[in-house]
Amino acid sequence: MIQIKDVGFKYKDVEVLKNVNVNIEEGEAVALIGPNGSGKSTFLKLLNGIIFSTQGKYFFNNEEINKVKLENSSFCKLFHKKVGFVFQNSDAQLFCSNVYEEIAFGPRQMGMDEQEVDKRVCDCLRLLDIEDLKDREPYNLSGGEKKRVAIAAVLALNPEVLILDEPMNAIDPKGKKFLRELMIKLNASGKTIICSTHDFEYVEGIFKRVLVFSENHIIIRDDNYDVVINDNSFLVENNIK
Ligand code: ADP
Ligand code: MG
Repeated sequence: MIQIKDVGFKYKDVEVLKNVNVNIEEGEAVALIGPNGSGKSTFLKLLNGIIFSTQGKYFFNNEEINKVKLENSSFCKLFHKKVGFVFQNSDAQLFCSNVYEEIAFGPRQMGMDEQEVDKRVCDCLRLLDIEDLKDREPYNLSGGEKKRVAIAAVLALNPEVLILDEPMNAIDPKGKKFLRELMIKLNASGKTIICSTHDFEYVEGIFKRVLVFSENHIIIRDDNYDVVINDNSFLVENNIK
């Protein structure tokens, strides 16, 4: 589904991702771990077409994803319908006057009729257990509530791939447990999950595979999640634990 070939990325002339070669199959649940600044968020933004590699190629379902392709608005819509991105900072994602409108925004952009929009909004409100928030202003919600709204807004498009950047950050334990169950459920229903995290305690059982990013901005390990998480000396050596 996702093929990343020899990808590199520079901000101005600073290299923040080097020689990335990764294939991800449909239905996988993949964690990204590594120290701060190792390039996890950059990698996720590349996958979502928010930024474009300065080297190498990215293929999604055998089609190259690049700036020129995504400048075509119908291709861009189709791609963003398939690949959903939950930002680390929910405030960067939420901009509507109330929660209902926020979740309805994507389906409306895709040209769905109001009956279908309403159905999707109600389904997602229920799935995230935020029905009582539907008339609230997203701006005034707690961090955990904002995160649920942002996830609902992304899921309203029913994406095939769900990309999450540190979703457990600044969420209380109950919220983290809820997110964990949700991610397991979504993956079991066939969605591909790609997620950066530091929160090993609360993500148990979600991931089968992990990509480990190093301070040198390369992927130093691509392995079974449980094997890596139990390799304490490896995690300590690489400033992950
Ligand atoms: P991580 O998510 O693993 O913490 P990031 O992908 O956010 O790492 O960052 C990788 C590197 O890129 C860091 O050194 C960071 O300072 C740098 N960086 C991130 N965003 C920008 C930007 N907009 N401009 C310049 N440098 C950036
Ligand atoms: Mg990050």
